[in-house]
Amino acid sequence: MLQGFASDDSKHRGNLMRRILSILCLVLAVIVTTPLAFAAPGAVRCGKLLDVRSGRMLTDQVIVFDANGTITAVGPAASTSAPSGAVSIDLSSATCLPGLIDVHTHLTGDPNSSGYQGLGISVPREAITGAKNARLTLRAGFTTVRNVGASGYTDVALREGIDAGDIEGPRMLVSGPPLGITGGHCDDNLLPFEYHHKAEGVADGPWAARAKVRETVKYGADLIKICASGGVLSKGDQPGTPQYTLEEMQAIAEEAHKLGRKVAAHAHGTQSIKDAIRAGIDSIEHSSLIDDEGIALAKQHGTYLVFDIYNDDFILQEGAKVGMLPESIEKEKKIGRLQRENFRHAFQSGAKMAFGTDSGVYPHGDNAKQFAKMVEWGMKPIDGIQAATIRAADLIGWSAKVGALEPDHFADVIAVSGDPLSDVHVLESVKFVMKNGAIVRNDFSAK
Ligand SMILES: [Zn+2]
Repeated sequence: MLQGFASDDSKHRGNLMRRILSILCLVLAVIVTTPLAFAAPGAVRCGKLLDVRSGRMLTDQVIVFDANGTITAVGPAASTSAPSGAVSIDLSSATCLPGLIDVHTHLTGDPNSSGYQGLGISVPREAITGAKNARLTLRAGFTTVRNVGASGYTDVALREGIDAGDIEGPRMLVSGPPLGITGGHCDDNLLPFEYHHKAEGVADGPWAARAKVRETVKYGADLIKICASGGVLSKGDQPGTPQYTLEEMQAIAEEAHKLGRKVAAHAHGTQSIKDAIRAGIDSIEHSSLIDDEGIALAKQHGTYLVFDIYNDDFILQEGAKVGMLPESIEKEKKIGRLQRENFRHAFQSGAKMAFGTDSGVYPHGDNAKQFAKMVEWGMKPIDGIQAATIRAADLIGWSAKVGALEPDHFADVIAVSGDPLSDVHVLESVKFVMKNGAIVRNDFSAK
């Protein structure tokens, strides 16, 4: 073939031209099929736009983003111009907000994976469940999630699949398997001794726990999740009982921070909450039995509290039907109301709070139902929205990229009908979702 290119023969020149043309066609086809976000800048016109930082509702605003899906300008429609060729999106009848963030999800699990039913679910099947739930979560308006606990690094695979554009889903920070003591909430205690079964994240003692942090980071974790106290959906333990010791948690926090990872600690129990905060853990998940001393410590250390106060309703109403253990339902009955009362008290005491729901305990996509619970238990709508935007972004270390509609942030935009500041329920019916400048859903355009 080289001879052909070297020849002056016109027939060979014709072949060469055809080859060049076919390569050009291929290149063009690739450009055309690449998502819009990476091909053209755009401008979203919002009838109303919630400035989540100030809590002010602005009218007639435009969000301009570039071809990389990064916001370049936000301002009044009359004075904010988009570059020529920008794709314009009309949401003049809607209220825009930044994409929401849930800092406590389990995308690879469904409610029916609790109890003994879960033993029949393979790791590959969990990954497929994760693909389904990633889509549901994104389409519900949650453009970023922190996933805190999954088997077989299915969460790492999910994150990579989403980032590669293979499947639809939110941006993810993932923990891999959660770390915990033998027989604790993060172990798997359903089978008797002769099966010799333990969960992947079990590590007892400070050095074993350090080694497990290193292993988890090696296989792709963005953060470390641990179980400091007992839990509700586990067998044979009590939510209020301490599990990891202060010494173990200090080792975990030090090792994780050294490797540039934050630590989220599952902690219902009063003592475990305090031990975790003193150990330097970054967020307390559930926080159910926190007392005044725990609240004061959280404020002093700048520790975030994550109260999952929606799923109590689901566990009590649907838990038995989906296979949750009878002991789990009993535990929830004792702890659910206390958790909500302590949520109100901690909020009124000025503790930092981020929005996390424990999705997977209840069906994915219902995450926003927690806003109404937060309002019912003492927050104003803007407090709940800030917990799911600027505060959540601060906790996960992504304040410069997500949680606000500001220049240099990802163009992650959602829109609803109505005013979420007067009725937070409107967030349960998100009608427009854009992630990184690409439209995921737009129910407004259908009208
Ligand atoms: Zn959880």
